Amino acid sequence: MNSPFVLARINAMTGYTPGEQPKGQPVTKLNTNENPYPPSPAVVAAIRDFPFSDLRKYPPPGSDCLIQAATQVYGVPAGRVLAGNGSDELLTMLVRTFAGEGDAIGAMDPTYSLYTVLAEIQGCRYFSVPLRPDFSFPDAETVAEQANEAGCKLFFITRPNAPTGNCYPIESVRRFAQVFQGAVVVDEAYADFASDNCLSLVDELENVLVLRTFSKSYSLAGLRVGLCFAREAIIHALHKVRDSYNVDFIAQRAAAAALLDTAYHAECCAKVKATRATTVSRLRALGFDCPMSESNFLFARPPAGQVARDLLGKLRQSGFLVRWFDIPGIDNRLRISIGSDAEMEAFFAALEGCLK
Ligand SMILES: *Cc1c(COP(=O)(O)O)cnc(C)c1O
Repeated sequence: MNSPFVLARINAMTGYTPGEQPKGQPVTKLNTNENPYPPSPAVVAAIRDFPFSDLRKYPPPGSDCLIQAATQVYGVPAGRVLAGNGSDELLTMLVRTFAGEGDAIGAMDPTYSLYTVLAEIQGCRYFSVPLRPDFSFPDAETVAEQANEAGCKLFFITRPNAPTGNCYPIESVRRFAQVFQGAVVVDEAYADFASDNCLSLVDELENVLVLRTFSKSYSLAGLRVGLCFAREAIIHALHKVRDSYNVDFIAQRAAAAALLDTAYHAECCAKVKATRATTVSRLRALGFDCPMSESNFLFARPPAGQVARDLLGKLRQSGFLVRWFDIPGIDNRLRISIGSDAEMEAFFAALEGCLK
């Protein structure tokens, strides 16, 4: 459906396909990497106690209370953090800030499919570098040189990667950023489920940015809040590009409360990681190829004689949504989000039925 008033490249593009959010029928969602646990009670209190008459006014444009909480929890100066309406909004701001029409934006393949969509909207070329067959990072210096030659101004490194779930060595990210001449965005949407992260690279290297989201480990996908860490000069530029009031008043307060409840957050992450370990073992016992994951999902290939797409349909019939990608090379894998222990128990009962 095209309109003659719309930019040709927008008419031509498909747009991002989010994971399904079913309406009505009771299903167990293991398809969008949401957290099975509720947000912190401190979040509930922050929303309940919010002075609703204040909604008459615009919120603090710089999300002050949230930035304040971030400086406390992450130990970074206020000038090095920016809040966004989800990290997806931050990604849009980064594309608008670093890449002009005709410039190239780079990323590894496979990775988060929103990057290519954002490049299309901006009229940028998209340069993708294949991961090794085991989803590991190729020689970092070579990748950086290729990205330089391709004219990339911005390069996304997703760590842990989606949809594969693995982490690249920090040393690969560091080496890449040292050789690459543009801005490097380390998208750390799943870092809280991993054993390490790249936040300190922001101090080491002036071209590194790190993104975090409240959607996964903080159980706040519906609130829409993300954070961007970078050097002062970059944050200063991003403030010019963002919407004046990009994070709503209630979200600022609720996200700050979530951040400050570090004990609750640690407990939820520990539970997800424990369930992840048992889920990996159980999938492997059923004959799945299931690489270790540093995130809250697994990327598993069904046992010989089984086809991922068919299993997707059978699981759906049994009331379980998982994610399947119609992309050559990874189209015989299912991405399975880690649910609660009870959800995974029910999932395996259904899965065993589907494999018969
Ligand atoms: C979920 C996800 C995001 C989006 O996070 P929001 O804050 O919900 O917009 C960004 N990057 C990756 C890799 C993700 O998986």
